[in-house]
Amino acid sequence: MTTATARHDTARAWTELLRWVPTGSLVGGAWTEAGSGRSIDVLDPATEERIATVPDGTVDDALAAVDAASGSLEAWSRTSPRHRGEVLRRAFVLMTERAEDIARLMTLENGKALPDARGEAAYAAEFFRWYSEEAVRNVGEVMTAPSGANRILVTRRPIGVALLITPWNFPAAMLTRKIGPALAAGCTVVCKPASETPLTALAIGRILEEAGVPPGVVNIVPSRRSGELARALLADERVRKLSFTGSTEVGRTLLAQAADTVVSCSMELGGNAPFVVFADADLDAAVEGAMVAKMRNGGEACTAANRFYVETPVAERFSEMLAARMGALRMGRGLDEGVQLGPLVNAPSRDKVRELVDDVRAEGASAIVGGEDPQGTGYFYPATVLAGVPPKSSLLRTEIFGPVAPVVSFSDEDEAVAMANDTEYGLASYVYTGDLGRGLRVAEAIETGMVGLNRGLVSDPAAPFGGVKQSGLGREGGHDGMLEYLEQKYIATSW
Ligand code: NAD
Repeated sequence: MTTATARHDTARAWTELLRWVPTGSLVGGAWTEAGSGRSIDVLDPATEERIATVPDGTVDDALAAVDAASGSLEAWSRTSPRHRGEVLRRAFVLMTERAEDIARLMTLENGKALPDARGEAAYAAEFFRWYSEEAVRNVGEVMTAPSGANRILVTRRPIGVALLITPWNFPAAMLTRKIGPALAAGCTVVCKPASETPLTALAIGRILEEAGVPPGVVNIVPSRRSGELARALLADERVRKLSFTGSTEVGRTLLAQAADTVVSCSMELGGNAPFVVFADADLDAAVEGAMVAKMRNGGEACTAANRFYVETPVAERFSEMLAARMGALRMGRGLDEGVQLGPLVNAPSRDKVRELVDDVRAEGASAIVGGEDPQGTGYFYPATVLAGVPPKSSLLRTEIFGPVAPVVSFSDEDEAVAMANDTEYGLASYVYTGDLGRGLRVAEAIETGMVGLNRGLVSDPAAPFGGVKQSGLGREGGHDGMLEYLEQKYIATSW
């Protein structure tokens, strides 16, 4: 396809979505379009062309959103759990009906291939369904004190106004994974989506409005001034919760800022997932799992397999099999039929991946497939498998966030575990082996919050998602996800 045709297709796809996807910020139930103030251009990473313009929210806009969220908190928190569950259920139905539009929208602004975007649209909607079911399960506890003198009653109350900051890599799912439990718990929210992908967040805002969420309960303020805005909101004593998904670096800054007002923080941060393959593993299954763990979302996932450790007898065979599958992927504009690998989200992301590959080659690694310098329009980088990566290479300590698979061999279980744990991160890991005992032993020994055992995908709305070490604090999804938006009140009494 020529660049001119691709641009025409981008414009047509966006025009079709414009009939319902808003381009304004949402504060207190009112949509504000970009006016004479500063604005954000949203680009199609495949064509580098502007798709739409949204307002670049100011600190005042964000504080107005806190006013709205704070003003609607009491009424929303007093609605019945059943009512909140039904609103979320309607949001699930509406989002499912519009899943194809949302998928196309994500492909337009994020670049991901349409099959990945379709997967995310369905996954994202599931958080509304799951929390529509959890809304009515806010359970407490009653017990007799050990002394027998009194009763201990524990109830769980909504924590209050929550600031939700989300990244561009899963623009729908990272937002519904926060809004779903927050609303179920009875909290109101101010959302700050990534400036690369504000349109998906605004589309979700429209869906929630149509589902019956009252004005002020969900507010969405796209902004390029993230630092300024977050600092002001965390200093506002009405904000009682911060839920952040993004890089560890930004997470550290936000934790420090939240300390001043002692804001409760949930942090879903960076990852550096090891993918460990033992010689007794079913290699076909391991390669299949590797393709999911590495290439879902083009490698732009916090759970992405970032380092492949393969037991020496099968390392070469595994690398060849993986390279054959990676090399066969069709790269192109995400909206085009048959494309499996879209562009990276922006030029700095593509340049970072290119530099990482160049650097590790200079250290002696070689590309079995891919690794060519990308040319032309769009932020593309080919699927790449690297062999001969030195075990101490800095690449293995860096979140690649792209379609690059470094392979390192190991000689025994202890070495594999030591290599897997040699990182500050601890989000996800993957283990492939034919020996279940060993699989469970290694899964326990690896320091990550989630382990895929003979499985390349861990994400599930019903499971507690999150990391240990510097990959985060708290859990999203599952039963635990709603607890992040509730605080306990203990009442001592006797009767
Ligand atoms: P990022 O940290 O640069 O940005 C994330 C969000 O924070 C964006 O909305 C951004 O605008 C905002 N932001 C940036 N600087 C800020 C500041 N100083 N104060 C407040 N907000 C600020 O991350 P990204 O590049 O958008 O996303 C990729 C990162 O997110 C990767 O590290 C990835 O591993 C991580 N991630 C983690 C999970 C998880 O669940 N653990 C899920 C998806 C992505």
